[in-house]
Amino acid sequence: MPGERDGTLPTALDGSIAERILYLRRRPVVAGPHSISHRAMASPPTVVDPAARGSKPPWHPGRDLTGRLLFLGTGTSVGVPLVGCGCETCQKGGPRDVRTRTSILVGMPDGHLLVDTTPDLRSQLLREDIGRVEAVIYTHDHVDHVYGLDDVRPLCFHSGRPMPVYCEEPVELRIRRAFDYAFSSKPPAGGGVPKLTFERIGTKPLEILGGRVVPLRLTHGPFDVLGFRFGDIAYCTDTSGIPEATWPLLEGLEVLVLDCLRHTTHPTHLSVSEALAVAKRTGAKRTLLTHLSHDLPHEATNASLPAGVELAYDGLELAVAVG
Ligand SMILES: [Zn+2]
Ligand SMILES: [Zn+2]
Ligand SMILES: [Zn+2]
Repeated sequence: MPGERDGTLPTALDGSIAERILYLRRRPVVAGPHSISHRAMASPPTVVDPAARGSKPPWHPGRDLTGRLLFLGTGTSVGVPLVGCGCETCQKGGPRDVRTRTSILVGMPDGHLLVDTTPDLRSQLLREDIGRVEAVIYTHDHVDHVYGLDDVRPLCFHSGRPMPVYCEEPVELRIRRAFDYAFSSKPPAGGGVPKLTFERIGTKPLEILGGRVVPLRLTHGPFDVLGFRFGDIAYCTDTSGIPEATWPLLEGLEVLVLDCLRHTTHPTHLSVSEALAVAKRTGAKRTLLTHLSHDLPHEATNASLPAGVELAYDGLELAVAVG
């Protein structure tokens, strides 16, 4: 229920068993019931005393990702492992075969910019020790990119201000429908709601958190969605084609992050061969594929890709120079 835990700081201790398994699979556990990861051991998170619930806990801002681009999630809409799937990737995959829903965090000069709010947002932020996000920008309005928005509540709780949300009109309409309780003149009794301020975007370059963001119009089956360019990195998830007008914006790339669902074709996503053709045409020095399904096991697929093209994975970080 929205607002159920308002006033408390989420910790690994109150995560669901499934969420704990997700990040315990990725990070070696050191010891003790309070251990989250080796990184957390080096810089222990603030654990809220249950007696303090209801009052404002101390803020643990976590890692500073200024000048970094972090992959929070690289999985397709159902995630990997796929619930109930008996395939090799889902049952016997390695740590890089655990893919939460697709999202990145970009360390802009004046704060952390979150690209999309997936249903895995809470576990992604805990896994990566991120305690602050200064703005959110959306690629499009699909469930796997929007429906974790309620998880920004603790971020606003600590910052003391509403979350700026940069998006196109269809995303705002989706958010207003899906999270109607956040916009009601009568907020739900006893519960907190995400506090948001909308900033409309289109295809015009804009400045966010002290850095330049260039929106990139992309085709996603029948939908028009956005990718974004940050310095010499382009982020193009959820696409099945690049419109002609967008190609010039993909020149001179150091890194292209590109949608790639599986080997076979799909109406709204790129296949491996289609993604390779896009990567080649852009001339990007390095291409990282994302929005991956269980059809693409990490190690075997990487071994089969041409030089300069790799699968991204949850937790991967790149340097980014956002001017
Ligand atoms: Zn998606
Ligand atoms: Zn599977
Ligand atoms: Zn989509």
